[in-house]
Amino acid sequence: MKLIFERSRPGRGNDILPPLDVPAAPLPEEYRRKAPPRLPEIGESDLSRHYQALSRRAFGVCDGFYPLGSCTMKYNPKLGEEMASLPGFTGIHPLQPIQTILGCQKVITQAEYLLCEVTGMDAMTFQPAAGAHGEFTGLLLIKAYHHSRGDTGRTVILVPDSAHGTNPASAAMAGFTVKNIPSTPEGLVDLEALKAACGPDTAGLMLTNPNTVGLFERDILDITAIVHEAGGLVYYDGANLNAIMGVARPGDMGFDVCHLNLHKTFATPHGGGGPGSGPVGVKEFLIPFLPGSALGGYGGEQSIGQVRAFHANFLVVVRALAYLLRLGNAGIAEAAHTAVLNANYLKQKLEEAGYTAAFPGLCMHEFVLTLEGLKKETGVSALDAAKAMLDAGIHPPTMYFPLIVHEALMFEPTETETPDTLDEAAAVLAEILRRAKENPEALHAAPVTTVIGRPDETAAARRPVVRYAFPEG
Ligand SMILES: *Cc1c(COP(=O)(O)O)cnc(C)c1O
Repeated sequence: MKLIFERSRPGRGNDILPPLDVPAAPLPEEYRRKAPPRLPEIGESDLSRHYQALSRRAFGVCDGFYPLGSCTMKYNPKLGEEMASLPGFTGIHPLQPIQTILGCQKVITQAEYLLCEVTGMDAMTFQPAAGAHGEFTGLLLIKAYHHSRGDTGRTVILVPDSAHGTNPASAAMAGFTVKNIPSTPEGLVDLEALKAACGPDTAGLMLTNPNTVGLFERDILDITAIVHEAGGLVYYDGANLNAIMGVARPGDMGFDVCHLNLHKTFATPHGGGGPGSGPVGVKEFLIPFLPGSALGGYGGEQSIGQVRAFHANFLVVVRALAYLLRLGNAGIAEAAHTAVLNANYLKQKLEEAGYTAAFPGLCMHEFVLTLEGLKKETGVSALDAAKAMLDAGIHPPTMYFPLIVHEALMFEPTETETPDTLDEAAAVLAEILRRAKENPEALHAAPVTTVIGRPDETAAARRPVVRYAFPEG
């Protein structure tokens, strides 16, 4: 496919700006470009075709089954898009007086009230723009709390070895030292190791529950009590709340701070970097440290300060509120129950087909397979199986994560898939297993139907070409 710059011809173009209807006011010479910007010059039809062709090369939840685990894009109802495009929400100016946008303020207050209900927290800020940003904000709150008590020796954040990579990264960004807590063979937090790691230097623990292997930490009340006894706070990574929303609340489990990813669980599409929203909820004693904002309040003398300009990614909150109001109390819980049911249904089907779950028994909203045995037996790896799924029109699950499982494939089917879709996916995976045993070579060559086969993923990540090299340099 040609790049848009390669389709460009001098003099072609679109009238994208209306004719000037005011006197021209030329920019002072010093602010002007020396040469015009090298924008592609292309007619309207060719431009439409270019983007249409690009969109056909992408794969999203509207194209087919997309069971990626952990960072899954879940339900993105069209209703949310409709609400987020209402002019009263899209047309506001960041510096507009608050009394002229009281409706927008009400969106924030109502979303805060409902999400505090869902999480068991007492207050919430909608400033952070993503999950990792929420983690960073939450950790600054934890630090501000300890410092406000003169307790400055708490420099360590504990993170289980199954955690999402952003957890240790955010802790390091916030100036903490990260200490890893090993998992038990069952995939849960090792209580003895946690006790041994806790001490006067413990600032807090970051935890996801259900954790990234899809298991609910049964000892959660003991876990939070151990950290609290040592004087630390407990942070809940609620990026994926689908398993427990409306059913169990982090606040009741003993967590002090939590973030949610509105762009995963609460109706905003994600991918390609945004816009997202990672609101942070806190228990009452942490309210004085919350960042302030015009629409969201808070921000007193002890506040950590604003972490995002103006009203942050406000339209994402509009989608989340539409989702919450549309589903209601019972609907939220039903979504959670169905997410867990769907994951267990697919897990059971795949085990019956001959796959090995990394951890036996019931899972929550996601589960992890290990293809270690298959690889030893046939040479077919998790990567080969994932690539073969592409040929069947299914987006592969998350691969090689969490790191504690070898040849991992992590599936999160989500609550919106029908039994038919899950049956079809199970059949595709059963067929891949059969082919792996009969003709492993063929699977090393997959995918054969996609535009790009197997790119050099390391080079693509380390040396991405994101800039067009104009022929004349
Ligand atoms: C996605 C995710 C994050 C990070 O969220 P971003 O919005 O991508 O920064 C953190 N923790 C878990 C468990 C996640 O799945």
